[in-house]
Amino acid sequence: MRSNLIDAGVDVFIVGAGPAGAAAAISLSQIAPHLRVCLADAGRDRPFRVGESVPPPIKPFLDHLGLGPAFIQADHCPSFHTLSAWGGQELIGNEFFLYVHNTGWRLDRDRFDRMLADEATRLGAKPLTATVRSLSPCAQGWRIDCGAAGKFAARFVIDASGRSALLPRLLKIPSVKIDKLVACAVFFEQQSVPDAPGADAAVIESFRDGWWYSAAIPGSRRVAMLMTDADIARQLRISQLPAWMAYLAETRHIQPLIASCRPLAPPAFWSAASRNFGSAYPFGILGIGDAISSFDPLSSQGIIKAIRSGLFASYAIADYFLRNDETGIARYYALMNREFDAYLTTRHEYYRQEQRWPDAPFWNRRH
Ligand SMILES: Cc1cc2nc3c(=O)[nH]c(=O)nc-3n(C[C@H](O)[C@H](O)[C@H](O)COP(=O)(O)OP(=O)(O)OC[C@H]3O[C@@H](n4cnc5c(N)ncnc54)[C@H](O)[C@@H]3O)c2cc1C
Repeated sequence: MRSNLIDAGVDVFIVGAGPAGAAAAISLSQIAPHLRVCLADAGRDRPFRVGESVPPPIKPFLDHLGLGPAFIQADHCPSFHTLSAWGGQELIGNEFFLYVHNTGWRLDRDRFDRMLADEATRLGAKPLTATVRSLSPCAQGWRIDCGAAGKFAARFVIDASGRSALLPRLLKIPSVKIDKLVACAVFFEQQSVPDAPGADAAVIESFRDGWWYSAAIPGSRRVAMLMTDADIARQLRISQLPAWMAYLAETRHIQPLIASCRPLAPPAFWSAASRNFGSAYPFGILGIGDAISSFDPLSSQGIIKAIRSGLFASYAIADYFLRNDETGIARYYALMNREFDAYLTTRHEYYRQEQRWPDAPFWNRRH
């Protein structure tokens, strides 16, 4: 049922209730409680969500959103290091002890996202289950068409639609595309803790055509992903489980982690490409999270970046509504562009550390 508030229009319409959209809604409710905010989400279209390893700096952001205690009580897996065989055969530990908060986490992603969205609703954002299909300028700002769920007017729209980057697609905004990385992931039931190095960590292992990642996740499950470029994935024919398993069998560190696990579904693909839309959105629409820029999962920065951008966007939008000050929006985009440039530098340095297959296209493209 539609609420009167939505029928009458809202100040801020947020497309997508992932970490970015929910963080923006929570923060707006905290700093500008009189604003009418709608948080719309299409609902889940795939059985599993990817993106579960978060480094220690996640905690101060959650504290800032008032969610620190709820997060700690939610039974996500604490994690103290990652292990990687990158640039050499042996696993090397990357401990979190240099961080002030030295605990990272492997998340139950559904529970984590729900915690954020529920908090946004509790603080006053109107939840709406709807798929946004199109938007157009109107007297109030923007008219948002959600198909059978209705049409809504908003003075400001936040695009938090994740990698689907809905609004750039609708508005034909070009992006800077860096690569065509894809993840080919299999989720497993993990009946017992494997007797192998890295059983309690996130493990990364590079190979000629890309790299592997595996981590145990809450609910006695484990995820393993083969990361490569889309064209290479087609050549490897890894969409069938036997072929995917054959490549897994060639790994030195990932395979022992999976040996006693039972696959829950065939391999599924996710885009994991690096891409940036920068400041190309028209006035009255702000992109946040993966919708504005997406990072290589190697960085483990996606979720933190999504929450951070949601926070910063909320400050810029509050300045606009409370003080009629549009400069925060330009500052926000400048910050997002600087963040993306810094990420590209780190990404390049990291990939250059792996020099064992300099002629292989996957590595050659990144050196
Ligand atoms: C393979 C892979 C592994 C990753 N691993 C990690 C990791 O270990 N650690 C990490 O920090 N990050 C990781 N990431 C990145 C991380 O998942 C994302 O950066 C993060 O989810 C971005 O949050 P978001 O809120 O911007 O978008 P999302 O979490 O994608 O949320 C977008 C929301 O928008 C909704 N939506 C989309 N279109 C519409 C529409 N038309 N109408 C209404 N709603 C819509 C969706 O239903 C969804 O709920 C990984 C990504 C990939 C692809």
